[in-house]
Amino acid sequence: MHNPLGNLKPRRRLFLIFLISLSGMFIILALFYYGLNTSLINEKKSQSNHLTTASIGVVKYYYRLFKEQKMTESDAKRKALDTIENMTFSGQGYYWINDGNGILLMHPYTSEYVGTDVRVLKDINGVYMFREFIREAKAGGGYVEYYWPKPNGEEKFPKLSYVGYFEPWDWVVGTGLYIDEMQQDIQSYANRAIGVVVFFAFLFFVATMYFMRKLVEELRSKAIRDPLTSLYTRRYLNERLSELQLKMKRESDARLAVLFMDIDHFKNINDTYGHNKGDAVIEKTGKVILSMSRPDDICVRYGGEEFVVIAVSEHTEVAELLAERIRLSLNGVQFDDNSESFNVTLSVGVAYQKENEELSDTIERADQNLYKAKEEGRDRVICDDGT
Ligand code: GH3
Ligand code: MG
Ligand code: MG
Repeated sequence: MHNPLGNLKPRRRLFLIFLISLSGMFIILALFYYGLNTSLINEKKSQSNHLTTASIGVVKYYYRLFKEQKMTESDAKRKALDTIENMTFSGQGYYWINDGNGILLMHPYTSEYVGTDVRVLKDINGVYMFREFIREAKAGGGYVEYYWPKPNGEEKFPKLSYVGYFEPWDWVVGTGLYIDEMQQDIQSYANRAIGVVVFFAFLFFVATMYFMRKLVEELRSKAIRDPLTSLYTRRYLNERLSELQLKMKRESDARLAVLFMDIDHFKNINDTYGHNKGDAVIEKTGKVILSMSRPDDICVRYGGEEFVVIAVSEHTEVAELLAERIRLSLNGVQFDDNSESFNVTLSVGVAYQKENEELSDTIERADQNLYKAKEEGRDRVICDDGT
C-alpha cells in the first residue's frame, strides 16, 4: 500500500502530524467560539427581556396601589417612573419609558428629550427606533437594533434593546445592551480559550519533540551498541568506516592501528561452564578492552567472542603495547564457577594502516595476524611493522 507520508523525513512527518492536530484544535476552537458567541448573544438577549419584564412588574405594582386607591394615578405614575429611573444595573444598564404616542416619559441619561415626541429621532442607518419600540411593544414585546450613545457620551454605538408594553397606561418600557461590549466579553472569553489552546499545543509539541528525540536516541544507541558489552556493533563500524577514518585522520596526523582479538578456545568455556558463563566472559572482556583503551579509540564487538579496536597510534609501538596490556589484563581476571575458577587467554592480531590503505584492508591484515597468533600457539600478540 502506498503511504502518502512515506517520502517525508521523520522530523517533517512529525511536524506535519503536529500541524494537523494543531489545525484540528483551532477548528474545535472556532466551533467553540461560534457556539459561545451565539449562546452569549442569546443569553444577553434573554437577560434584557427578563430585566424589562421585571421593570414592568414595578409598574404593575404602582398601578395596583392606584387601583386599590392607596395612591392617585398621577402619584402612582410618578413613583413608578422615579423608581425605574433609579433601577440602573451592571454599570451602564438603565431603563427608559415612552408612551404609545412617542412622548418620552423617562430617560436617565437624555433628559433633554423627556416630554418631547421622540418618534422623530432616527439613527445613522435611518432607523426610527422609537417607532420600532412602539410597534414591537404593542405586538407583545420584542427586540430592536439601532445606534444610540452610551451614558454620558456623544458617540453612537450599535445597541440591542428589548421593549415591553404596559397597556393600562400605554407605556413602552425598554432596556438594552451595547453590542460592542457584548462582543468584548465574548472576545475576552475567546482570547482565554485561544491562550489555553496555544499553551497546550506548545506543551504538546515540546513533549512530543522531547519523547521523539529520546526514542530516536534509544533506537540509535540500540543499533550502534552491542547490548552485552555496550561496545559498538560490527554493523556500525562497517557503516561508518570511511567516516571514522576521516574523523580520526582530521583530529590527529598519527596513523591508525587495528587490533583484532579473539578469545582462545571459547567453545570449551561454553561447553565446560555453560553459555551464561560464556556471556559473562564476553562481557568482562568488553570491560577490560574499554578500560585499557583511550576515549577516542573505537571499540567494537566484531562477532561472538571477537573484538576490534581502531586506535590512533602516535608511535609504532602504541597499538602493540595496548594489545599486550589488554591480553595480560584479561588473562589476570579470574572467573569463578561454583568451586572451580578459570582464566581465559586472548589472541590478538595488530596491523598499522599503510599510506593510502583502506581501513577495511587494515582490518583484514589484523585478522590475518590474529590467525597467525592462533597458529603460533594462541595467548599472544602478532603485529606487522606497517611498512
Ligand atoms: P579459537 O581459540 O580457535 O578461537 O577457539 P574457539 O573455541 O574460540 O573457536 P570459535 O571462534 O570457532 O568459537 C567461538 C564460539 O563462541 C562459538 C559460539 O558458540 C560461541 N559464541 C558466539 N557468540 C557467543 C555469545 O554471544 N555467547 C556465548 N556464550 N557464546 C558465543
Ligand atoms: Mg575463539
Ligand atoms: Mg572466534
